Amino acid sequence: MFAGMFRAIFGSKNDRELRRMSKVVKHILEFEEGLSQLSDADLQAKTPAFKERLSQGATLDEILPEAYATVREAGKRVLGMRHFDCQMIGGITLHQGRIGEMRTGEGKTYVATLPVYLNALSGLGVHVVTVNDYLAERDANWMRPLYEFLGLSVGIIQSGQNRDVKRLAYAADITYGTNNEYGFDFLRDNMAFSLEDKVQRGLNYALVDEVDSILIDEARTPLIISGPSEDSSELYKKINTIIPKLKRGEVVQEKLPGGALADTDEVDGDYTVDEKNRAVELTEQGHEFVEQLLAEVGLLAEGDSLYATGNLILLHHVHAALKAHAIFVRNVDYIVQGGEVVIVDEHTGRTMPGRRWSDGIHQAVEAKEHVPIHSENQTLASTTFQNYFRLYAKLCGMTGTADTEAFEFRQIYGLDVVVIPTNKPLARTDHNDVIYMTEEEKFEAIVEEIKACQEKGAPVLVGTASIESSERLAIHLQKAKIQHSVLNAKFHEMEAEIIAQAGKTGAVTIATNMAGRGTDIVLGGNWQSEVAKLKEPSDEQVQTIKSDWEGRHQKVLEAGGLQIIGTERHESRRIDNQLRGRSGRQGDPGSSRFFLSMEDGLMRIFASDRVKGMMQTLGMQHGEAIEHGLVTKSIANAQKKVEGRNFDIRKSLLEYDDVANDQRKAIYEQRNFVLETEDISETIEAIREDVVGSLISDHIPPQSIPEQWDIAGLEQALTGEFRITLPIQQWLDDDKRLHEEGIRERVLQTFVDKYKEKEQLVGDPKIIRQLEKQFMLQTLDRLWKEHLASMDHLRQGIHLRGYAARNPKQEYKREAFELFQALLDNIKMDVIRVLTTIEIRQPEEVQAVEEARRAEAEKQVMEFNHSESQEDTDEGDADAAAEPYQRAGKKVGRNEKCPCGSGKKYKHCHGQVA
Ligand code: ADP
Ligand code: MG
Repeated sequence: MFAGMFRAIFGSKNDRELRRMSKVVKHILEFEEGLSQLSDADLQAKTPAFKERLSQGATLDEILPEAYATVREAGKRVLGMRHFDCQMIGGITLHQGRIGEMRTGEGKTYVATLPVYLNALSGLGVHVVTVNDYLAERDANWMRPLYEFLGLSVGIIQSGQNRDVKRLAYAADITYGTNNEYGFDFLRDNMAFSLEDKVQRGLNYALVDEVDSILIDEARTPLIISGPSEDSSELYKKINTIIPKLKRGEVVQEKLPGGALADTDEVDGDYTVDEKNRAVELTEQGHEFVEQLLAEVGLLAEGDSLYATGNLILLHHVHAALKAHAIFVRNVDYIVQGGEVVIVDEHTGRTMPGRRWSDGIHQAVEAKEHVPIHSENQTLASTTFQNYFRLYAKLCGMTGTADTEAFEFRQIYGLDVVVIPTNKPLARTDHNDVIYMTEEEKFEAIVEEIKACQEKGAPVLVGTASIESSERLAIHLQKAKIQHSVLNAKFHEMEAEIIAQAGKTGAVTIATNMAGRGTDIVLGGNWQSEVAKLKEPSDEQVQTIKSDWEGRHQKVLEAGGLQIIGTERHESRRIDNQLRGRSGRQGDPGSSRFFLSMEDGLMRIFASDRVKGMMQTLGMQHGEAIEHGLVTKSIANAQKKVEGRNFDIRKSLLEYDDVANDQRKAIYEQRNFVLETEDISETIEAIREDVVGSLISDHIPPQSIPEQWDIAGLEQALTGEFRITLPIQQWLDDDKRLHEEGIRERVLQTFVDKYKEKEQLVGDPKIIRQLEKQFMLQTLDRLWKEHLASMDHLRQGIHLRGYAARNPKQEYKREAFELFQALLDNIKMDVIRVLTTIEIRQPEEVQAVEEARRAEAEKQVMEFNHSESQEDTDEGDADAAAEPYQRAGKKVGRNEKCPCGSGKKYKHCHGQVA
């Protein structure tokens, strides 16, 4: 209450921000008159003039008002739209590196042109980030005429493009692409063979559209580039056969003296399932039973324990298989399509081809569904979106729904949220939820509601939480003979087309959350896209379509606008708001209502007791519903709980990745230094000193007495590792005063001399410099990959250690640090060892090293494309790109697995008849 009073007197922080920005908007306005008098050529000359001012030391902030006014003027001429004042405020917010919350239909695509233009003037590049390839292309091409008019170039990143195309797109002043593609390109660049192979050129300014989806929903899983490793599909299959023999446990209840039932600690069964946390646990009894079953299929020796250190992997597999059966539900968590298990995003209902669950879960689900099991992949590079996007010098974003997540944006990304007022007041009515006992009743009610809307002539958009419920509803509508379209976010372009027409009278569209997102629903349908369908429309035809549309538009307005029906509350309030936001754009009328049942997932797990109590007290009949603010409130509370839990998951992922991130930064920095530097001989010298130093310390501990020295060991190590034989004992015998420091100097000198000798032998010092670079990169890449595997194992193992009551995160940090220390030592040691021992007879041999590294690099990229092409479910490309596979010895049968390790049949892979 007090907060409310203060706000009334002083205005909220948001109001103050808005007021401050309004002053800038006025300033922008002052330029309009003058700019509108300019010829096109003079207006276009503004761009080089701004660049000149920047090079003279002006800041972007200083030129912002005139630059924004210039974009506005150019926009009027090129695209026929004048940026609204509230769009200007949005544009200022974005330039300041904040998040602008602007409702659906406020024209965010157009808002983006303002900060994008301004920030592109620096020449350092601007990345616009969209949620899918279709939107990247659509938005880039939509805004391109404006940018090009102003003399800036536009590039588009799409998945599957080759490196040269990508490099050009990144070289443009402004680049449009998806979050995935930017992230993967970043990782790929850090595996690049040479500087010239990189595609990105620095991370300057990123503007993220639908920023909540990208930085929050998608941030729960990391980006991973991986290559196939050994095949353990037999193991998965065997374990899969034993899981159905286990019995799901129920908590044993006991009768209390008063007659009520209470849970005991006892469980009857082999395993328990915790639905809230999506966890499974074997009971003591189940544990023994599993050991017995494993022994029967020959996976465990008789009498051996599943918890023995040697069996940790087996235990891990059992857990994965158990989860696959008990927690992962077909058509909810995933679908099976073309022999593949495809993940369905729980937030958006979108399928995510190519994404795989980690920790062996995906393979376990594949075993459960009896589809081919893809071999486990080895991580080659990985990062999280959090850590990728934090690399940009400036980051900003826009979306219709950010405010509920303002805390997370602030904490994780350092981004403030500014809520920007709409251009016209909102005229949508959001009704209270109605709640039914059963799903069946709920669906019946929804069908009735849809019929009623159709009678009014209003279009309906029905939002569902999963593909499964979309399909169930579709069946109900078919029975009721109601025409409808179903969108599952599978075919972005086609679905965008359908959703663009979802505002027509009587249209009924069922969509999962992300389906058609980013496409405007215009009441009465989209007449521009009707025009676009004609090959060469005459002015007359355009006029007819337009006036026809005006009639339809009017009718839909009278019918109350777009009606939103939610079939289920989503786990997060933000996503419900996105659904609602589809209606009521630019002051249009509209309404929204959610239909719920006690059988919905969210209700069952979180909100049941209280609401059920209410329903029972009311003594509800079949088909009756309650509609009460209290229900809406208790659902919001349940959602808050889930949101909190999901935040914790993301935070935990980030905490783990932060450790990896520091390491990744250090290694990438080192790698870039080597790539960029012609002559790294100084670095090599420093490393050599380090390596020799620690070798000596290993055998002559600092500040120790000669009795503790292991001179024989030192001599041996020098010969064994470096092929350098030195009579150190002799030195000591000859010179009684020789101490540790003296030995160090003499040994080091020998290394240096031998190296010089080698250099002279080769003749051209350039060759040695090249060799140093090649070995450094080769060693770095090889050991880094191995390190990533160790980190993966550490991370998976650390949870099993949680039982020992240690803090797993602390443990992880400590061990990760030790692993990294060892990695650095190993890199140094390996590089020096190779450079010291290698014999170079001919300069061509150096060339050979480089070629070997290139071959390795190319093979790696190929493996990556392989897994990426599965992502596209488009097999053709990768196969065409693959080198012909040379058969060694035995002939491979056409139906056997291809020996290249792809997991496909030979006839579909390298045995394909071209
Ligand atoms: P959002 O992403 O905010 O939901 P869009 O960028 O898809 O909105 O734009 C919605 C519609 O608004 C588009 O059809 C666009 O052409 C229109 N629009 C945007 N800005 C303006 C403007 N200043 N004047 C007129 N129409 C505009
Ligand atoms: Mg948009």
